[in-house]
Amino acid sequence: LFARTVNAAPEHKRPKIVAITGTNGKSTTTALIGHICAAAGRDTRVGGNIGVGVLDLDDMHGGAVYVLEMSSYQLDLTSSLKPDVTVLLNISPDHLERHGGMEGYVAAKRRLLLNQGKGDTAVIGVDDPWGQRICTEITAANRRTIVPISASKAMGRGVYVLQGLLYDATGERAAEVVDLLRAKSLPGRHNWQNAAAAYSAVRGLGLTSQEAADGLMTFPGLAHRMETVAHVGKVRFVNDSKATNADAARQAMSSYPKFYWIAGGQPKTGGIDDLTDLFPRIEKAYLIGEAQADFAKVLKGKAKVAECGTIEVATAMAYADALASGQDAVVLLSPACASFDQFADFEARGEAFRAAVTALTTPAAKGARA
Ligand code: ADP
Repeated sequence: LFARTVNAAPEHKRPKIVAITGTNGKSTTTALIGHICAAAGRDTRVGGNIGVGVLDLDDMHGGAVYVLEMSSYQLDLTSSLKPDVTVLLNISPDHLERHGGMEGYVAAKRRLLLNQGKGDTAVIGVDDPWGQRICTEITAANRRTIVPISASKAMGRGVYVLQGLLYDATGERAAEVVDLLRAKSLPGRHNWQNAAAAYSAVRGLGLTSQEAADGLMTFPGLAHRMETVAHVGKVRFVNDSKATNADAARQAMSSYPKFYWIAGGQPKTGGIDDLTDLFPRIEKAYLIGEAQADFAKVLKGKAKVAECGTIEVATAMAYADALASGQDAVVLLSPACASFDQFADFEARGEAFRAAVTALTTPAAKGARA
């Protein structure tokens, strides 16, 4: 296991390791940390759930930064890993159910943190009660640097984002670092949490505040996560195919005051019941896949609905309605469902959406139809 190799390497040759965990935002935060480090000129390798498997990385290089996304499953495989920086983004109750209750899940997340020692950094999201609890416990053990992060409140010490402004309050006084509203690809409060985490992590690696801020501004974003795939006239098409549950879809839906919503697929327990407060933002819902009849029932009387069957039909109908409105409009694919009823995976679903958009909006396609 590479974890043993790494820990056995002489101190001066040891690579730096960053390990990212949490319920949501892991891939984005992993990519973001990788981007900031690479942009600052560090030899950077990104592994884990995105890209190469965590155990398949090439021989580790002294001086390089390894940024690893870790699922709980991988945590179990790598209990000997001693990361220089750990990031725990958030813990949501949905996720806890799937891991046989809170205690087991929290224990898995905590294990990584407990492997750390003096000189290491633990970045902990405190916007949920479980993160808060872990932060308190770890602080009490106090052998490493703890950086609490929040996307919703100011703190006496930590890194937080208020209305898009990222503050670093790890020093003597809170310093305003960067305006995330100007970042290319970090829309929404959930991305502010990812940005606060990435900022704190790279600072823990020794990057300057300026290097961190520059990297946040130029991050290109990840495909299928609130990715703008096209902006045609007044209509913007957003691919959030990665939102495979209501919790993830909530983030995108909260980011736009109004949107034409493409949703459905293979439903998860609870469906879209938890999203009721966001239904007033739906101009109209275009439903697809196995979930469409059930979702239509839930939305009845609360939003306009079309049962479309396929993503191609849904995209065409949504585009037609968005165009007809004459207003600035967002067509949002954020399915709140797994993709497996109609697609190999969420990537294939996102690509189908992209293809449908291209077919509808490129001049060649228009010409062919004419
Ligand atoms: P993960 O790798 O943990 O599944 P991703 O970065 O792939 O997370 O993001 C998946 C979806 O979750 C995104 O489409 C987005 O809507 C939502 N999301 C991203 N970051 C966060 C966050 N910090 N908190 C809650 N939801 C998030």
